[in-house]
Amino acid sequence: MIKNNTSEIIKKHRLKLTKALGQNFLTDFSVVKRIVDASDIDKDTLAIEIGPGVGSMTRELAARSAGVAAIEIDKRLIPALNDNLSDYSNVSIINEDIMKADIDTIINKYREVYNAKSVKVVANLPYYITTPIIMRFLEEVKGVDKMVFMVQREVAERMVSGPGTKDYGALSVAVQFYSKPEIIFDVPPHCFIPQPEVHSTIIGLDILSEPPVEVIDRNLYFKIVKASFGQRRKTLVNALSNSGFFNKTKEQIKQILKEMGKSENIRGEVLTVAQFAQLSNLMINEHQKD
Ligand code: SAM
Repeated sequence: MIKNNTSEIIKKHRLKLTKALGQNFLTDFSVVKRIVDASDIDKDTLAIEIGPGVGSMTRELAARSAGVAAIEIDKRLIPALNDNLSDYSNVSIINEDIMKADIDTIINKYREVYNAKSVKVVANLPYYITTPIIMRFLEEVKGVDKMVFMVQREVAERMVSGPGTKDYGALSVAVQFYSKPEIIFDVPPHCFIPQPEVHSTIIGLDILSEPPVEVIDRNLYFKIVKASFGQRRKTLVNALSNSGFFNKTKEQIKQILKEMGKSENIRGEVLTVAQFAQLSNLMINEHQKD
């Protein structure tokens, strides 16, 4: 393990790390290096970092990118960040909650400030809000072409799994609708202080310029996905009709499944991203026929 300066900075600034904010900081520089390698950042890239902590990865991002916009919720860390990054002039620290920040405005502003051509997001994510952060970036944020995240190993497995497996769920469908996910490498607990109780995994999401399937009503698509996995032990027909979201009788849903060449007894968990699209498009067409 090649140690970075995380422990030193924590000691120097007498920081007490907060479990509630997911503050497990990386102390292994070779892991930092591999994460930044995986993000394909170069001198034309604006790097958005979520939760820079005391800036160990921020330093490496700054060295390799046009500039970094790092969004950190914990104001106690700001002096340590400024200290640790004082030898870089291309880092902007934003003391905000990533779930509330206006990310599009931040991206547009710093893309101009650093004259960047592309935008990549890199983060050792706080695990208490991993999924909401990833979903926010996938659904709401424009102009990003790649995201590389450290997440809990089980979450990474859910993101890449396919139909019919126990890990396949609403998160898998959403991630694969917006991106091409790839597991890059695992990181054991001893690479952090304090050591987390879980194993971590680096996952890369190459953002697709278009979804892989044509969906007429994206809102309906995700409502169907949510309802299907909300009651994953039930048949799809029962899960959809029990949800109360759709004005379809069981018979109408069975008819749609028949048109798709599927048995009326299937569970939602066997449908691919494309088959969910087919189902949601047929639900609209059926609706228009009513
Ligand atoms: N990047 C550092 C590293 O790798 O050593 C720290 C990673 S630590 C797992 C997660 C960081 O996210 C912490 O610095 C924490 O304060 C910050 N954080 C937690 N919740 C946040 C939020 N809602 N918005 C922005 N940052 C947040």
